[in-house]
Amino acid sequence: MTINALRGTYDICPPASYIWEYVEQEARRLFGQFGYGEIRTPIFEETRLFTRSIGENTDIVSKEMYTFADRKGRSITLRPEATAPVVRAFLQHKLYSVSPLNKFFYIGPMFRYERPQAGRNRQFYQLGTEILGSNHPYYDAESIALAHQFLCVIGINNPTVKINSVGDLESKKLFGKMIQTKLMPQQSLLCADCQTRLEKNPLRVLDCKNPSCKEYIKDLPRLTDNLSPASKEHFAQVLRFLDSMNIPYVIDNCLVRGLDYYTETIFEIVHSNLGSQDALGGGGRYNNLVEEMEGPSTGAVGFAFGIDRLVMVLEQLRPELATDRQQLDCYILNLEPSVFTEHVALVHKLRKTGIRADICTEEKSMKAQFRAANKLNARFVVIRGKEEIEKNIFSIKNMNEANEEKISYTDENTLFEILRERIIKL
Ligand code: AMP
Repeated sequence: MTINALRGTYDICPPASYIWEYVEQEARRLFGQFGYGEIRTPIFEETRLFTRSIGENTDIVSKEMYTFADRKGRSITLRPEATAPVVRAFLQHKLYSVSPLNKFFYIGPMFRYERPQAGRNRQFYQLGTEILGSNHPYYDAESIALAHQFLCVIGINNPTVKINSVGDLESKKLFGKMIQTKLMPQQSLLCADCQTRLEKNPLRVLDCKNPSCKEYIKDLPRLTDNLSPASKEHFAQVLRFLDSMNIPYVIDNCLVRGLDYYTETIFEIVHSNLGSQDALGGGGRYNNLVEEMEGPSTGAVGFAFGIDRLVMVLEQLRPELATDRQQLDCYILNLEPSVFTEHVALVHKLRKTGIRADICTEEKSMKAQFRAANKLNARFVVIRGKEEIEKNIFSIKNMNEANEEKISYTDENTLFEILRERIIKL
């Protein structure tokens, strides 16, 4: 019986993994440049961390969490997102007392029991940032600017940044009530999901993709027209800062995000190279979450990209990233068993000096061994067969040129020194 990876999960093998490495490496570099420090939290947490922060009536908590009882009967959940764990860590370690402003980034797997399709997995990966400690609209704009710049750096050009504001908690609640009042008379005409949303999470009705629901949504008042004066000003400032940095965006009045903790600015970044699951990432402000989790009043904002989806777009736009980019400096053929052990020592010594060396372990024909060297993209090949040993020589073939250099062999060190010299000279 063969055992395969579970539905909605998958392996990331070379050379596809080179794209993942590239994305993660560029994220670390750019986020570091913007002053963010990496935070790593556990993959599982107490279930109530997520139910309290994300919200009981959200899709994630009501139907997508991987929740189980551990051996002592405690309810544990595989993290479906990272904001709540970061806030937990922030409070647990009282990081607010170390510095008034904390900027974190994270990279890692998340888990949601969703119906798998292209761009939607049950174990997926996110990279994201969180800024804790300020309500300044500059940080909303910085988060968006960083997300936008990151995409440009990795070569995903022309993303669309959609932005909206849900206002403070009070505005959010009032707007939810307004939607309920307006749509309740037509409740039975909405899709099944929206009928439930209207009762439990009315704002979510706004981003329903169902064409018949859209008919009713388009006549609803706009979120941004119903904000408190302070929220209106906050949003206006975010847009001003984005304009000053030349970050393109579109205001999307129907944008609401699936998690309860968002307040004020919310945003999503989509890309036309993705299909129906077109969101590369999203985020927003969450000014009440820290306090709701019994911490001090703390303004906060963050975003997350789905790495799976970034990679899907890069596979189309930059397929060269998934080629074997690693060139081998030298490949030592295995033509004469009596010198194999000496070559084992040689390859180890070369590697210790930072040279990318490898050795053929199979006793195949010279032609087959050269084929292997070509496949590994070797720059030099070391040839030491019966004939060379009898003549007390060895050959180094430069694979980029036709020539083969014959060098006399005095002791084990000659081979190492000469090879090193040739490799470094190139
Ligand atoms: P969210 O945490 O729901 O705001 O999602 C942020 C980003 O994570 C989305 O824009 C997607 O790129 C990615 N994402 C969310 N859920 C999944 C999933 N099930 N599979 C793959 N990527 C996902």
